[in-house]
Amino acid sequence: MNIELSVVIPVYNEEQGLAALFARLYPALDALGISYEILFVNDGSRDRSAAMLRGQFQQRPDVTRVILFNGNYGQHMAIMAGFERVRGRRIVTLDADLQNPPEEIGRLVAKMDEGYDYVGSIRRIRQDSAFRHYASKAMNLLRERITRIRMTDQGCMLRAYSRDIIDAINSCREVSTYIPALAYTFAQRPVEIEVEHEERAAGVSKYSLYQLIRLNFDLVTAFSLVPLQLFSLAGMLISLLSILFVGFLAIRRLLIGPEAEGVFTLFGIVFFLLGIALFGIGLLGEYVGRISQQVRQRPRYLIEALLEQGEAEAALLRPAPAAAKQDSGAG
Ligand code: UDP
Ligand code: MG
Repeated sequence: MNIELSVVIPVYNEEQGLAALFARLYPALDALGISYEILFVNDGSRDRSAAMLRGQFQQRPDVTRVILFNGNYGQHMAIMAGFERVRGRRIVTLDADLQNPPEEIGRLVAKMDEGYDYVGSIRRIRQDSAFRHYASKAMNLLRERITRIRMTDQGCMLRAYSRDIIDAINSCREVSTYIPALAYTFAQRPVEIEVEHEERAAGVSKYSLYQLIRLNFDLVTAFSLVPLQLFSLAGMLISLLSILFVGFLAIRRLLIGPEAEGVFTLFGIVFFLLGIALFGIGLLGEYVGRISQQVRQRPRYLIEALLEQGEAEAALLRPAPAAAKQDSGAG
């Protein structure tokens, strides 16, 4: 069996939007006239998403495959799990919330026909809050500065990759990563196109401000050591200046004699240095934390059940009770 296109979709608590997604995604892909498969990865949803995916699998078992995680491992781990199982020659990632219109997949594929191996996307009119908009603009700028990754719109998941890139990604054992950026480092001929962008069809964003900040730390620390180096450079410079300052104070002490008025200035300086030291420790922690995650070598995610036709027919029958247990846990 030769599959042209695999579509990987992470799903986390999307029960309100899934029906609309199914209604638009399948016709859009059928219209392309190529062989395709859709891999849904349920990232431990606590609502009826898993049950709905199961229902959809029963309706279109020819092109639908479902991976059910036993917990919430995050959007990028869900995509990774999909990547490890895709069979297609080309792979497209898509959000489940219909912010990326499925109708645009055809354009990504057409772009790949021109010989590109990575097709990124830029949202034409962003339908995000002003804060999200400016925060991601600032993040883009920082990333362009300190890594060699060039992406106009890092937040858009509607992207297409060649099989080679996916194979390269699969050989990476990183625990925390940002897939579009990782893929970009393996791309030989990357390109970007503009795509439509819509309001979330239903449900709410799964990313809190905290998670967005975490994601950006992943993005920076997974691809660059610059923050760490910057800090040690700044630390060196500041300690050099402090030595000069201490020398200056010593000379003053000899020439003018003791004086107490400068105490608060000293306090100010001490707090300043303390602040930098604490920030540096935190920054070190970012890297050390990743090292410790890596050396633990835990599995990055655990799969509870796989729904697919063919060789995994058995897997389809076995885990049904387990999945049912999870569904009932939603109530
Ligand atoms: N998602 C996931 N696991 C998570 C968070 C999100 O699989 O822990 C999925 C979610 O179902 C959606 C995609 O990742 O398909 C993007 O999430 P969302 O739309 O909430 O992010 P935003 O558009 O706000 O960046
Ligand atoms: Mg979204």
